[in-house]
Amino acid sequence: MPEIPELEHVAQVLTERIGGRSISSVEVPKPIVVRLPRPDFEAGLLGARIEHVERRGKFLLWYTDRGSVMAVNPMLNGRFQWMAGADGLGAPLKAHARTCVALRFASEHDDARLGLRYIDERVLGKIYLVDADELDSVPVLNEQGPDALDPALTQELFLQRLKRHRGQVKNVLVNAKFIAGIGNAYSDEILFAAGLHPFTKVSELDESRRIALYEAMVETLSWAGAICAAQIGDQIDRKPRDFLRVHRKGGEPCPSCGAAISEVSPKRRVTSFCRACQPG
Ligand SMILES: [Zn+2]
Repeated sequence: MPEIPELEHVAQVLTERIGGRSISSVEVPKPIVVRLPRPDFEAGLLGARIEHVERRGKFLLWYTDRGSVMAVNPMLNGRFQWMAGADGLGAPLKAHARTCVALRFASEHDDARLGLRYIDERVLGKIYLVDADELDSVPVLNEQGPDALDPALTQELFLQRLKRHRGQVKNVLVNAKFIAGIGNAYSDEILFAAGLHPFTKVSELDESRRIALYEAMVETLSWAGAICAAQIGDQIDRKPRDFLRVHRKGGEPCPSCGAAISEVSPKRRVTSFCRACQPG
């Protein structure tokens, strides 16, 4: 599942490459991901100029000059990929079998046409097109809490919001209603940085550990964001994870203490942590 460190960079690349360009063609090979009638989606996008692309939680919001927003929830596997021959960005040569939507972009200023496809192996992602003042009607987006990187999410606000949540700290971290943008991989990394066992109940955390959790969240997302930006570059369909310290590193030595990293999968969700550095 793409999370803040990857999506933040993807939004920046899309804004740089596509901002100011108009959509010159819209194809929808798998309409199931588009959550409005296909003709409305096509007519709404065709000819629209993209102003910028912004990330909010795990959503990518494409603002157009028509006052509309294409809101993309990539869910588990959705991602954007440049199409071959479109500006030499090095995309795979063959059409991708899991292309759900393909867009081409023209510019008044140069002849290069950019092509971008939205691919999704499990076809679980969802794409909406709404007026900018109706973003509150988009499911999931309208229920999520502040973004984990929102400067308005101060330590004080974080602690306040944490008081409303119960249950295991990992489950709370990945709950977008608490804070948006953190998923399975980065919750493991944040908990490792904070030295907290993932299955500890939030109610058992004292003030100093709650503050440590906030600081670990900010530090981890910033650390990973810089690495993702460098490793992804223009290849926006990539999701680099090899550099992570514990997530999916079960059996490997902990980078801090050398003990073997534990990996468990309650509800089929892999959770990786160090029992020595994150005692329960
Ligand atoms: Zn350790």
